[in-house]
Amino acid sequence: MIVRVLPDQAAGRLLDYRVPECFGDAVAVGSRVKVPVRTRVLTATVVEVLDYSEVRGLRDIAELLDEKPMIRPALLDLARWMADYYCCPVETAICSVLPVAVRDGKVSEKRRNMVRVAREIPEDELAALEKRAPRQADALRALIEAGEPVLVSEAAAEAGVAEGVFRILEKRGLVVIESAVVARDPYAEKFLSSANLVLNAEQEVALQAVEEAMADPAAKPILLFGVTGSGKTEIYLRAIRKAVEDGRTALVLVPEIALTPQTVERFKSRFADMQEKIAVLHSHLSDGERHDEWHKIHSGAARIVIGARSSIFAPLENLGIIIVDEEHENSYKQDEAPRYHARDMAVLRGHREQAAVLLGSATPCLESWHNAQSGKYRLVRLDNRVDDRRMPVVRVVDLRQAARRSPEGGILSLPLKEAIEGRIAKGEQTILFLNRRGFSTSMLCEACGHVCTCPDCSVSLTFHRAAERMCCHICGHSSRAPKVCPKCKDPGIRHSGVGTQKVEEAVKKIFPKARIARMDADSMTRKDAYRETLGAFKEGKIDILVGTQMIAKGLHFPNVTLVGIVNADLGLHMPDFRAGERTFQLLTQVSGRAGRGEMEGEVLVQTFTPFSPSIQFARHHDYEGFMDQEMEFRRQFGYPPFGRMVMITLRGTMLERAQFSAETLSRKLKAAAPAGVVIGDGVPAPLEKAKTYFRFQVSLRGPSSVQLARLVRTTLDSLPMPEDVFVAVDVDPLHLL
Ligand code: ADP
Ligand code: ZN
Repeated sequence: MIVRVLPDQAAGRLLDYRVPECFGDAVAVGSRVKVPVRTRVLTATVVEVLDYSEVRGLRDIAELLDEKPMIRPALLDLARWMADYYCCPVETAICSVLPVAVRDGKVSEKRRNMVRVAREIPEDELAALEKRAPRQADALRALIEAGEPVLVSEAAAEAGVAEGVFRILEKRGLVVIESAVVARDPYAEKFLSSANLVLNAEQEVALQAVEEAMADPAAKPILLFGVTGSGKTEIYLRAIRKAVEDGRTALVLVPEIALTPQTVERFKSRFADMQEKIAVLHSHLSDGERHDEWHKIHSGAARIVIGARSSIFAPLENLGIIIVDEEHENSYKQDEAPRYHARDMAVLRGHREQAAVLLGSATPCLESWHNAQSGKYRLVRLDNRVDDRRMPVVRVVDLRQAARRSPEGGILSLPLKEAIEGRIAKGEQTILFLNRRGFSTSMLCEACGHVCTCPDCSVSLTFHRAAERMCCHICGHSSRAPKVCPKCKDPGIRHSGVGTQKVEEAVKKIFPKARIARMDADSMTRKDAYRETLGAFKEGKIDILVGTQMIAKGLHFPNVTLVGIVNADLGLHMPDFRAGERTFQLLTQVSGRAGRGEMEGEVLVQTFTPFSPSIQFARHHDYEGFMDQEMEFRRQFGYPPFGRMVMITLRGTMLERAQFSAETLSRKLKAAAPAGVVIGDGVPAPLEKAKTYFRFQVSLRGPSSVQLARLVRTTLDSLPMPEDVFVAVDVDPLHLL
């Protein structure tokens, strides 16, 4: 047998090898193997099985990494499609469908010592042992009682003896100790089971649509547009159950940020009867845990997978449904090659594997909304909150006036302060949301206007009070915060802008008796901090929770009746055509945290630009109104979804060389561009410098991504770049920085 393989590091070259007899027929398309290449041994993927090869003097493959092919043919095809569409090397795409932890076969299973009784042991033998060695007898009795192999450590604890006692028993031939594979389960606790809820009429209709899609191999993807708290998750849970009952599998994608213990618990408790068949994949897993979870899926033991972005490549077979929760989330877009969008990959994978695709959101992204309008997706709506709970009342506070009146500057306006006071008096809870971490954004000198910026990244540094340092959130650069302005020596250099820490401090000052906690990436560095803080909040041990995006999504706290948005303008003035859409989504999502229980919720939005459409439409819960106007704006300028876009970013340590390369690339693209394709000039990126690299961009716009990608590939192939200039191609980019 001869196979054609693609090494992980050989610049896309395909090589042929002979498969020695000893491997039998275990080698197949998708197998991971080690092959000799000149003097090295490389890891590679089998992409084809051949009858013969024209290559003379074929060498043998050296090693087979897994008995069952690691990459299923369907996923191999998906990887190839990705390489083509997203303009990246095919070996990079293949690697992305295999987690690092399983790719090289370096992490192995966790083996631990298990002990079992060696043979039937008659009572008189036990009694005799009892007299001579009572501890050994205790240990043996405990083991007989267990009736199954147990971990040596657990058996010892159970019998109250040292582990060594079992070694002695082993020497006497009474027990057998052997190492066995034990899966590392990151959520090993048992969950209580939760029963199905009785669906309301809207949910019934929605579920029926989903079940129809699951029965029809040619069904369109479903866009489940349901306001926050409308019971979308209940639909997911029912659909998953249906898939599993039909003998199929289910894949659920949630944004990394929403992959909280709370979310996982909700799924695990509904499927408490089959907990061992659920695999959870997220970025906090250790390599070992990731390895085990992946193999649990690969072996077919797991029927339900819940995970973040890259789980779209989970090796499930016989998929019944793929669910993408919060489908509008930007974190579904991968920010390194291959720069795929997990939602789009879900639609593609579902189509290819004849699985239903369910995209859910309270604020579907413009592209998905457009697809629903044009009939490419089937639109299913949940217009009401469960039990007809009212949407929260949203009030806008104009900071331009409030700031002048409030002694705390713009942090807490009088209306927000009073609203919090009212909640504390009634024993209800408040969430204060700020889209930014750190103590304040920037250090701005009021006297001369100087702003401290990162020497490598051209962005302002964030001041962190606890460490008295300024940090760059792009590259991680940090330095001591100055006491006076570095430029004019004015001691009044003050911390402009507001960070979560500063909000926390201000709130503490105003409400000295309230119990306050902060939740952001800085305060949540400890592994369990997140879980603990949420737990305390849920139990009512915290009155006010201050936080960033981390608390914006998916959390459900019935006792929260007030959400304060400290500054809605952050993010609105970014140099990006999606800034308005993002702000609208964020405001809507955060508002959704209020009034999830019996009590009505209230949202206070503080802003310096109260009349911006994003804020006004969000205030009236008018998703469609916002979409209409935003769609018109995109249509006028030919932005997605009306046109497609590719962004090429070139970076280099030498400014002139990077700039020259960008300009040359732009010129070549212009020369080769077909009619209808618009190529931008080679210009500095909005983020001009990052991690010591100077950054330039060339944008392409046209009617079809595939056409743009092809143009980029052929042009780049014929244009040698200087060694120190790096090119990144982003097809359907989400961020234009
Ligand atoms: P969404 O995902 O749309 O934000 P959830 O699925 O989280 O909404 O539902 C919000 C709350 O309503 C949850 O506490 C959920 O248990 C509850 N819920 C959902 N469907 C029903 C139902 N049919 N009857 C009663 N409660 C429900
Ligand atoms: Zn920096």
